[in-house]
Amino acid sequence: MDDKQERNAAQAVFGIIGWPLGHTLSSALHEAAYRKLGMNAVYSAFPTPPESLRDAVRDIRAKGLRGINVTVPHKVAVMSFLDEVAAAAAKIGAVNTIVRTADGRLVGHNTDAAGFVLSLAREGVSLAGRRVAVFGAGGAARAVVAAAAAEKAAEIRIFNRTLSRAKELADAFTAPERPVTAFPIDDARDGSADADVWVQTTSVGLSETDAPPVPLDHAAGKTLVDLIYRPRTAFLIEGGRRGAKVIDGYGMLVYQAAEAFRLWTGLEPPVEEMWSAGLAARK
Ligand code: NDP
Repeated sequence: MDDKQERNAAQAVFGIIGWPLGHTLSSALHEAAYRKLGMNAVYSAFPTPPESLRDAVRDIRAKGLRGINVTVPHKVAVMSFLDEVAAAAAKIGAVNTIVRTADGRLVGHNTDAAGFVLSLAREGVSLAGRRVAVFGAGGAARAVVAAAAAEKAAEIRIFNRTLSRAKELADAFTAPERPVTAFPIDDARDGSADADVWVQTTSVGLSETDAPPVPLDHAAGKTLVDLIYRPRTAFLIEGGRRGAKVIDGYGMLVYQAAEAFRLWTGLEPPVEEMWSAGLAARK
């Protein structure tokens, strides 16, 4: 084996499974970290249609991959193929990061919740003691509600098109010291009027022509967060015009990647390098 082959054999492989995968910023984020820390590692995209998920997890085991990110539509389904799911991820009901332990077990984690909290902290926003309105009740909303609960938000209100989904999520996280309640999304205008932080987690806004999913009459003075990071959504544009502080989902993307890196390597993630590499790749 020559020098180059030895280097390649020692190379740690990380990556992401999803479908369709298209252009993902995750490679740029993680490879910036490997560069900064001088690691012999690579991050690859593994497009995985739903019917191939079981085989993909088998491959992750067989090839000895160190860690894998999981994105749409596999975050829930992948849990049944793992050896263990961390308690916090099980409560959220979704895994976005798989860690291979030293003894070869595959353990599922969720770094979206921590990524959300850290992205707000970067902007000087804390959820402790705040009233939080969440629009949407899908997988991302579950991570946001878990984060708001863990951060000791005073109250959480979930507004969703499908009320039963919002109710199920509210029931999972409500507690005597922190009511979590569910409403139809049509009630969002008045129902979120006195909430301090509004978090937009629906997929409305992914298309540039999408109008905000909720009225923004009461947005002035609030903090508006949209998990979508591309394009800039009407929710944030109009909210900003009305005097809200606005935060897009790019920070959550970077920090969930940083926390995945920490779980896989035990190293402190070089967040600033990851942040700028992602911005450069986004252009
Ligand atoms: P899901 O498919 O699990 O949930 C989608 C949500 O959007 C549901 O609440 C759904 O309502 C709602 N919705 C969809 N269409 C409409 C509509 N026309 N009007 C009102 N509500 C609608 O998706 P995820 O939760 O996984 O992802 C949601 C968004 O969050 C995506 O845009 C994704 O890109 C973003 N995201 C960003 C992350 C980041 O790191 N920045 C991380 C994860 C996600 P219903 O229940 O009624 O169908």
